[in-house]
Amino acid sequence: MSPARETLRRVFGYPAFRGEQEAIVEHLLAGGDALVLMPTGGGKSLCYQIPALLRPGTGIVVSPLIALMQDQVEALAAAGVAAACLNSALGADAQREVERRLLAGELDLLYVAPERLLTARFLQLLASIEVALFAIDEAHCVSQWGHDFRPEYRALTVLHERFAQVPRIALTATADARTREEIAEYLALERARCFLASFDRPNLRYRVALKHDPRAQLMRFLDDHRGEAGIVYAMSRRKVDETAAWLAAAGIEALPYHAGLDAATRAANQQRFLREDGVVMVATVAFGMGIDKPDVRFVAHLDLPRSMEGYYQETGRAGRDGLPAEAWMIYGLADVVTMSQMIAQSASADARKRVERQKLEALLAYAETTRCRRELLLGAFGEYYRGPCGRCDNCLDPPGTWDATVPARKALSAVYRSGQRFGAGHVIDILRGADDARLRTLGHDRLSVYGIGADLDERGWRSVFRQLLAAGLLEADAEGFGTLRLTAASRAVLKGEQTVRMRSDARAVPSRRHRAVA
Ligand code: ADP
Ligand code: ZN
Repeated sequence: MSPARETLRRVFGYPAFRGEQEAIVEHLLAGGDALVLMPTGGGKSLCYQIPALLRPGTGIVVSPLIALMQDQVEALAAAGVAAACLNSALGADAQREVERRLLAGELDLLYVAPERLLTARFLQLLASIEVALFAIDEAHCVSQWGHDFRPEYRALTVLHERFAQVPRIALTATADARTREEIAEYLALERARCFLASFDRPNLRYRVALKHDPRAQLMRFLDDHRGEAGIVYAMSRRKVDETAAWLAAAGIEALPYHAGLDAATRAANQQRFLREDGVVMVATVAFGMGIDKPDVRFVAHLDLPRSMEGYYQETGRAGRDGLPAEAWMIYGLADVVTMSQMIAQSASADARKRVERQKLEALLAYAETTRCRRELLLGAFGEYYRGPCGRCDNCLDPPGTWDATVPARKALSAVYRSGQRFGAGHVIDILRGADDARLRTLGHDRLSVYGIGADLDERGWRSVFRQLLAAGLLEADAEGFGTLRLTAASRAVLKGEQTVRMRSDARAVPSRRHRAVA
């Protein structure tokens, strides 16, 4: 038996490696560097723990979360591994003792916070001992585009500069192609071998619906999940409070969670969610980091998440026990406009806005797709997945598509002719030829586009505008009020050089004649 397998059995008590674990362990044992992308629960820890035990010296693990470190060290100690951690939560005496053990070569693994590792004193300490490997956990913290950006992570290149001979392994569960590139760049892992595990969560069923009556829709969804634990995500604190109160009044065990609640309430609600059966947590994105409840049966999004990574992380909290669970989301035109405005209005630099816009577009493409949702979801992480998966709404009930070239062109020219200064509601009024005083005052009843869209109802037009925004054929202005503008891509459609297909939402299709099945 290989030393790696022998250690896996003897120390950790597992009969076999999972997925890529063995290849990763062997690669490090041979002295190679590695970049490991594996979903949460995939088994990342063993990938560096076993090589740390087998290579001479101490394995140094960089980890951003003190709570996480302590859990790991306790679990390792229980398995008889000499492990310790160094962080600000430790008293001075305890710190000195850990340093003594490190210098004496008594430790197999040492977990350390990045800011500690980077001190001159600690780097000097490292220079005087034998280091088995460096493991950089939660390596996506290096990415300034992500939610967990930790500037100190960028300084970790020093490891490669000072300890060129020591193998390094960076691990993360969040990694689209861009994040991966950043990790490779800032941690000097361009030549490291990349191990990419599948991010598919086969037991999750994905569903996205159009928002028309959010409360009724949520209630219908919850009817299928009575008595089950789940999370309902909403964008704002106020909406969280209102939704939780409304659900509670409707007889559902619902609790709110957001950063605006006092710490005691947050802790109490979290405890109830973890300990009791069938509690529905209504929350902002503040809820979820480090929550490990295996039997969460559903995650519902009442608003668009921030990005595909966010969506993956949030929906990934469902079904950790491997049993069927559901990821459900509703969204509408207003969400697209709001998100688009939030990006435009933010104080971020243009480069960052561009990235945020791309992230929003990826999310909208996912929401609007007529293809298997898994293809897009996993595609966002650079994974090639070939549907149909049979476990998403599009696979289970394929949506129709229709040739929306003519309405798209009408919509774009109405936006253009009215001066790109109005929101979708007003432009739809123009298209539908509404009899409206404001419209007349503005002279919009005399525009050539006035009334050219009477064949489509209000809802149909909202669908068209939403899909134009999603496709990047329109954008919402930064000024607010959802003002719509043309984009560089609009031209080809206006000039009749490009056709536009849209998914047929209920009643969005003008007549049966245009209908075609995907
Ligand atoms: P991650 O860090 O990727 O979220 P962990 O390293 O915490 O995942 O592992 C998740 C769970 O899977 C842990 O309970 C771990 O003990 C278990 N595990 C990891 N590898 C194996 C294996 N080869 N066989 C059985 N269980 C494993
Ligand atoms: Zn599918």
